[in-house]
Amino acid sequence: MRKIAIYGKGGIGKSTTTQNTVAGLAEMGNKVMVVGCDPKADSTRLLLGGLVQRTVLDTLREEGEDVTLDDVQKDGFCNTVCTESGGPEPGVGCAGRGIITSINLLEQLGAYAESRELDYVFYDVLGDVVCGGFAMPIREGKAEEIYIVVSGEMMAMYAANNICKGIVKFAEAGTVRLGGLICNSRNVDNEKEMIEELAKRLGTKMIHFVPRDNVVQRAEINRKTVIEFEPANDQANEYRTLAKKISENDLHIIPTPLAIEELEQLLMDYGLAG
Ligand code: ADP
Ligand code: MG
Repeated sequence: MRKIAIYGKGGIGKSTTTQNTVAGLAEMGNKVMVVGCDPKADSTRLLLGGLVQRTVLDTLREEGEDVTLDDVQKDGFCNTVCTESGGPEPGVGCAGRGIITSINLLEQLGAYAESRELDYVFYDVLGDVVCGGFAMPIREGKAEEIYIVVSGEMMAMYAANNICKGIVKFAEAGTVRLGGLICNSRNVDNEKEMIEELAKRLGTKMIHFVPRDNVVQRAEINRKTVIEFEPANDQANEYRTLAKKISENDLHIIPTPLAIEELEQLLMDYGLAG
């Protein structure tokens, strides 16, 4: 089972990209589990057709220890298995801790058991900085292969670089590696070339360039992935290609983060060239 986590700046498109990629992998015949690690609990909405499922932490709070797997997992598009870990009440407790509580419970309940024949588990993790709580999945070895969603916007690149710093910290003692950057386009000038260059300097590659397309919003309003909503749309094929590239990816590295000056220079070189 490949244990994948998706990181990136808030609002960059982690949940959308994760669910569409998972839909692509599931369509190819893979058994995939998704664990949402964002207190917003919107990591599985598109796979579940908008069904709002009770989070693991809410279920624990309400049911105590009598939780079964069926209470916290729902079947989504193409037999995907969907869980939302949820979060603490606002202002109380640590969201990162909550994520680990959820994952530990899933383990105890046998969610990852061999008999379930999972090919992949995807963690969709909130947070741009891999500090404290949100590093939990990689710190505890729950996720081993990281993809960072990024665009050509400065703050998204800045966040991606920071996430790489976090990966370095845990990679040396553990198994976590960077699998690549996913460019989720914001139609910035020279975006593809710039992210390819950023990836190269980080020691990795841009695994795919996902175009910006309003069909993503149309599908979202209909509570579906693009793959389910408009299977013949070009954008659906972009996500299928991304899924295939991830399935074939064997470049797993410890990244080499950039100094801030180098990152700013990169932005200037490509930004001004546009
Ligand atoms: P995150 O999980 O990183 O916070 P989301 O996946 O929720 O981000 O995406 C934020 C918004 O961006 C959503 O409304 C989504 O529809 C939109 N979005 C994401 N990717 C694309 C894309 N390739 N084209 C158009 N809109 C997109
Ligand atoms: Mg999200």
